[in-house]
Amino acid sequence: MKTIYIAKRQIILCLLFMLLIIGTLYADDDRTHKLSGKIIVVDAGHGGIDTGANHSGVLEKDINLAIALELKKVLHQYDAKVVLSREADIELSPECNNEKVKGRYHRDLAARVEMVEESDADLFISLHANAASNSKRQGPEVFYYAKSEPSKSLANVIQNELSKVIKSAPTANPGNYFVLRRNKIPAALIEVGYITNIEERSLLQSPEHQRKLAEAIAKGIYNYY
Ligand SMILES: [Zn+2]
Repeated sequence: MKTIYIAKRQIILCLLFMLLIIGTLYADDDRTHKLSGKIIVVDAGHGGIDTGANHSGVLEKDINLAIALELKKVLHQYDAKVVLSREADIELSPECNNEKVKGRYHRDLAARVEMVEESDADLFISLHANAASNSKRQGPEVFYYAKSEPSKSLANVIQNELSKVIKSAPTANPGNYFVLRRNKIPAALIEVGYITNIEERSLLQSPEHQRKLAEAIAKGIYNYY
């Protein structure tokens, strides 16, 4: 009787294990399905001569690029196509095709929006790091263009995922940024954290934290769809 009981228990355990495997396979299938074929422009803010914010030797442009590269890897796992605005420490003003746009700064920003049109992208994500005179301020903040409802939804789902990684506001904020205003597709600008906060500055430089932020952003994008 005891042997039969053990055998039964083993069969049940075996069935449960198989169900778990099947569940995982379906979950993975779903995960790739929603973003499959979607084209996402991942914009690492600043670059080259434009460092963005800087504090204690930490340059915003470097943090932005490190997280952009991580985000590209994670989004590939979701089967999305990723177009990076830059893959190195460069400014993008030479890439701007519109002769009417004057000045290095504006040409750099215009080039980032042109990338969306040239790649026929579905989504635009711009990555930045924040700075404030109050060194206590911390946490990621996501922005959207107020006149775009889809951008608001996108920004809110990303903010929600980021607030699970590190304490931050549960909802996104409207922001009148050029790269958001000029985009015709859903767009979000993500301030990944404050380099002026001592703990967060150290976190933002750690590959592990960069990975967590990238995973949260990708999860947010997935939830948006
Ligand atoms: Zn910035």
